[in-house]
Amino acid sequence: MSTVAPEVLQPGLELERIDHLIDGRLCPGRSGRTSPVFNPATGRQTGTLGLASVEEVDVAVASAKAAYQTWREVSVAKRTKLMFNYRALVEANAEEIARRLSAEHGKVLSDAMGEVARGLENIEFACGLAEHLKGSYNERASTGVDVYSVRRPLGVVAGITPFNFPAMVPLWMFPNAIACGNTFILKPSERDPSAPTFLAELFQEAGFPPGVLSVLHGDKVAVDRLLEHDDVKAISFVGSTPIAKYVYTTAASHGKRVQALGGAKNHMVVLPDADIDLAADSAVSAAYGSAGERCMAISVAVAVGGAGDSLVAAIKERMEKLRIGPGDDHTSEMGPLVTREHRDRVADYVGIGAAEGASVVVDGRSQTFEGDGFFLGVTLLDHVTPDMSVYRDEIFGPVLCVVRVDTYHDAVELLANNQWGNGAAIFTRDGGAARRFQEDADAGMVGINVPIPVPVGYHSFGGWKDSSFGDTTIYGPEGIHFYTRPKVLTSRWPDPSSSSVDLGFPTNT
Ligand code: NAD
Repeated sequence: MSTVAPEVLQPGLELERIDHLIDGRLCPGRSGRTSPVFNPATGRQTGTLGLASVEEVDVAVASAKAAYQTWREVSVAKRTKLMFNYRALVEANAEEIARRLSAEHGKVLSDAMGEVARGLENIEFACGLAEHLKGSYNERASTGVDVYSVRRPLGVVAGITPFNFPAMVPLWMFPNAIACGNTFILKPSERDPSAPTFLAELFQEAGFPPGVLSVLHGDKVAVDRLLEHDDVKAISFVGSTPIAKYVYTTAASHGKRVQALGGAKNHMVVLPDADIDLAADSAVSAAYGSAGERCMAISVAVAVGGAGDSLVAAIKERMEKLRIGPGDDHTSEMGPLVTREHRDRVADYVGIGAAEGASVVVDGRSQTFEGDGFFLGVTLLDHVTPDMSVYRDEIFGPVLCVVRVDTYHDAVELLANNQWGNGAAIFTRDGGAARRFQEDADAGMVGINVPIPVPVGYHSFGGWKDSSFGDTTIYGPEGIHFYTRPKVLTSRWPDPSSSSVDLGFPTNT
């Protein structure tokens, strides 16, 4: 990253100019269109980002296509070595990655370090590419005939990622894609582009050839060009449901393989026998951690039977102790929201919930903060019902809704009728009930006494219903499957005893 002349931008403030990384080099955007980047804790602009034009996308795709011709031929041993180099560099620079992402996203540093750690798991998984790319072999499928299958790369593939995990979500994608022999173009969120750009710079430093990984900053113009470009063979997308649907249908209509993960409204079911302290601790960290801007955040607590009163009281007590402040203050447990507009939209939902008839147990709007940062206090809404928009919409902020139901079956039905099915959790001391829930829950990822059941890097991540479009979920074994296509070979070799040249084999009689 380089800095631009301060007079161009805000007086007294040097703004970072965040560049694309194409063909192994940082290069400033040339389209003339830019987007501001903010520090959400101060509310001040800290950077400016060039938004790629169609021509810049074409240059990046051409570079990736050229790199693919040689990268796909690089041995598994060499690819593995480079991936190990990269793993070491990311680990060595974990604090710097976390600092950059916290400064643009707002999340607290400990949370940002957790994000880097979850990203590292995916690099570690990709380091096992020799194992993942093993084919299969059947000898003597017929007389003299053997059949074997290998998985080949697709070519140039692209990833479009959201603001809320600017390091981890790109790492869900490109290490596996590149380990499989593809080349990759990353289009990160415009809101926090520095961490993914730095990740790509480290990738170059690890020794990967230019063009194997490119970072192209941009908006709809860049995304649309990637979706329609003939030389882009697959699209990985993570973001909101409307854009996921759009990406899925547009890219598929251009003949591409697509995995498109969307939004969420994750439910946490609390049975009357649950450990209420554990459930309340979990609800507070899962609902308000990262200011609720996680696709696996808990946004609905479903209190079953008599669990409601004690659960609400225990959550409220913990909320009052939550320290909200800048991400780089080590005493902060929750940072600001990502933009002023998003903070205001989330705050509006508190009023909407009250108007719809929910009880406002804690009103996040009443907490005041010094300065112009995009802070908002935490909110707890009780007696929420499924017809309310605070229940139906993805708020994506520090607002937890409590829905009270009579029975376990009512809770399961509530989940089944919800638009989304990313994650779901149950809190209970009853193993039988937990076991039933792991079957009954209409969601792709289920937690038992675990509020955020994000799979480790060697499983795969993805929800059901409107939380995921396309055939495969992301990373882990499904990631390898997504980034490769099968080739099946059938060979016939007559027995050498029948050769016209005497090779010394006894004749078969
Ligand atoms: P978003 O959908 O606004 O943006 C995601 C990406 O799409 C960005 O790179 C953005 O530049 C691009 N984009 C935005 N509008 C576009 C348009 N009209 N046409 C083409 N491209 C467009 O999402 P966000 O606000 O950055 O992220 C938050 C959302 O992501 C939430 O809904 C959250 O639940 C979801 N999310 C889901 C998962 C998951 O695994 N399911 C993970 C993280 C985030």
